[in-house]
Formats: sequence, C-alpha cells, structure tokens
Amino acid sequence: MSATEEKPAAKEQQQQQKPKVVLTADQQQIFDRISKNEVSELKLVLGQFKQSVDFVDENGMTPLQHAAYKGNKDAVQLLLDQGADVNSGKHEYNYTALHFGALSGSVDVCVKLLLAGANPNAVNSVGRTASQMAAFVANHQVVATINNFVPVKEVEHFTKSPASDPLLPVVHLEGFHKFVMQINIHPVRIALNLQKYGLFGEDLKRLKKALDEMMEREMKRRTEVNEVMAFKFHYLGYFLNEIAKCRDYFLARKDKADKEGTGAKDQKSLDFVELFAKRVLKLGKDGSLEYIEATIRECVREFPFRECTIFRQVVTQLASKENPACALEIIKAAINGQRGFQDTISFCSSCGEEKPDKKCSKCKEVQYCDRECQRLHWFMHKKVCARPVAPTAGAQGQTGGKDAKKEIDSAEISEQLQKLVAS
Ligand SMILES: [Zn+2]
Ligand SMILES: [Zn+2]
Repeated sequence: MSATEEKPAAKEQQQQQKPKVVLTADQQQIFDRISKNEVSELKLVLGQFKQSVDFVDENGMTPLQHAAYKGNKDAVQLLLDQGADVNSGKHEYNYTALHFGALSGSVDVCVKLLLAGANPNAVNSVGRTASQMAAFVANHQVVATINNFVPVKEVEHFTKSPASDPLLPVVHLEGFHKFVMQINIHPVRIALNLQKYGLFGEDLKRLKKALDEMMEREMKRRTEVNEVMAFKFHYLGYFLNEIAKCRDYFLARKDKADKEGTGAKDQKSLDFVELFAKRVLKLGKDGSLEYIEATIRECVREFPFRECTIFRQVVTQLASKENPACALEIIKAAINGQRGFQDTISFCSSCGEEKPDKKCSKCKEVQYCDRECQRLHWFMHKKVCARPVAPTAGAQGQTGGKDAKKEIDSAEISEQLQKLVAS
C-alpha cells in the first residue's frame, strides 16, 4: 500500500514540484484562445468572464503573460481592458509580462505594456531586465523602445507647471510625449517628428525648457540615475533650439522678401523644414555631413554633467583619430546601444530611419521612408542619381540597352540581398 502512495509523490517531484493548479473551464478556454491567437473568440469569452484575469496556469503565467509571449497586441489590449495587472504573475523564473513581450520581439506589445505601467526595471531570476533579455535575443527595436520609454506622468506635469503659465498646453501632451520617446535621433527626423506631432504650433523654446527640466530630473534621481536619457533630452533640446533658430531665420527672410517683393518664387517652393534639411544633409567637400559633425560637437560640449560616463565616453570617441565613425553614429550608439551587423541594415538617406519602404525609382540606389523624405534629400541626390537608359528596340538602343540591363541587374541583386537579410 505504501508503494502506491509514494508513486504520485515521486511523479510530482519529477515535475519540479509545480503547485497543482485547477483551472475552471472558462479560465482554460482563455488560455486556449490566446495560444491559438483567436482574438475575436477571446473577446467573446472575456465578455462573459466576470472574475479577475490575473489567474495563473501551472507555470505561474497569467493570460496577459501568455498573450505578450505570443506577441499578440490585440489579445494584450483585450486583457488590459479587462483590468489585467501588468506586473502580476508567479512565473518560476520571475519573468514579467514585459519580459515575455520583449522576447516576442513585438514593439507594439511592449509599448502597450509600458503604457499600462509595466516596470521596466523588474529583473528575472538571473537578474536581467526585459530590455536586457531583448538584447540577448537581438530584438534591437524592442531594446530601443523600452530604453526610450518615458512614463506619461513625467511629461504630464508640464501641463500644470508653472501653474500660472504651463510649459506645455494639454493639447500637445500626446505629441510631446511621443516626441521625447523617439528612437531615431537624426536631426531631419527630429524636425519631421515635430511636424508630424503638431508641435510646430508650439513655442519651441518652451519645449526646450521642459526637456532641460527632464534632463535635470534624470540626473538627480535618488535611485537609478539615468544619464543616457539625461543626455538624450539634452540632445533633443539642443536640436529643438537649432530648428527654432532656423525657423526664425526663415521667417525673417520671408518677411523681408514679402516687403521688398523679391524672391517670391524662391520662397514659395521652400518651407523651413526643407531649409533645415538642406543645412543638415548638405555634404561637405570631404563628403561628410559638416553641419551634423559640427553641431553635435557643440551639443556635447554644452552638456552640463561632465562627470558622467556617457559624456566622457562620447568625448573620447569624438576625439579619437582611429575611430572613423561619424558624430551621429557615435551618439546613436551612446543612446541606443552598440549593435552588430550594421552593414546589413538599410537606412533612409534623408532621416536615417531603419528599413525604409521606398527607393529612388530612377537609380534604385538610395532608400527613403516616403516621398517627403525623398523630396528633402533630392537637392543632394540629383547630383548623383543615375538614370538607367530604358532598353529600346533598334540599333540606337543596342549599347545603351546593354548597359541599362547591367544596372538593373545589380539593383535587383542588391534588392534580393536586402530581402534575404530582412526575412
Ligand atoms: Zn526618412
Ligand atoms: Zn536616384
């Protein structure tokens, strides 16, 4: 008799003594729907489900953690709407929903979890945060998203302070919040984002003031000083100021032209984002981006916290003779971390965004996010954009056609290679 009593105990030990979990039929169904990515069915079950959705399965995982691990942003949203606690769970290795989201590689899932209050500093049983786990599996976009995340409350108070004259009108809270979290810190992208988030209606100097306060706050935290974010806020503020100066100059010139009735044709076709982009993207005689090189150096010099690691690291790299990296690359690496295989990633020639969708239809040699990015870069690109001769029938087309074929082939090959890497 005693032998039969011991058997189940031994079996349990084999299963690493997991606590026995008995799920109700509804709970089981919720897990099943999530595991099959059946979002509309999940919605139906949740509609009937009146208890807390923070129950766990035999692995100590909540439905939200499962949905995050699946990288299913709709399921994650449904569970959050149902009141799921984003930091809840009893996973045996202390993984949080954000850890699972980070491993799934879904930026959308991670943003939803962070907005719902997921703690990015929570560590698993091997002492790693969600961002570190994402880096481990090379989900770089996720790493950057988590590291650049700013809780809404950090910017919300600017809509109330100073009480008499708040730095940030409520209507611009959402736009400004997105602006401070931007990952791509290319100056042209900064200008385009200001436009995209409707912030050009705002006094840029006041936004810079808010960013300066955010920088100070990061450096003066009692726990977890975040000097990387402090530097980023300084950098964004510095370029806001540069863009504001460019706008003032543009408006003054336009005013003058309007009064004198000169240059009207020239002014009409130009907006100040374009003027700024021209400053940024103009190549110097040595082929470098002179404005970016000089402005970033000035920006770094003005960073007020000279004792911190990021400042010394950036200064050393900018001064290094052996390091051929341009200033923007150095800053990008300092803020978003080093990453390998840079060569295999394509970038927008205008704003530096990763993996842009479009390419120059004439030469297919350069890539852009969209027509706007292409427009802003055209003044430089038109000098080098090769137009392949269309293959035509007849004697005249013979040699031209052959050359054109060669060009198209090489473009096709590079396109294929790009697809290979992307997939
Ligand atoms: Zn772009
Ligand atoms: Zn071209």
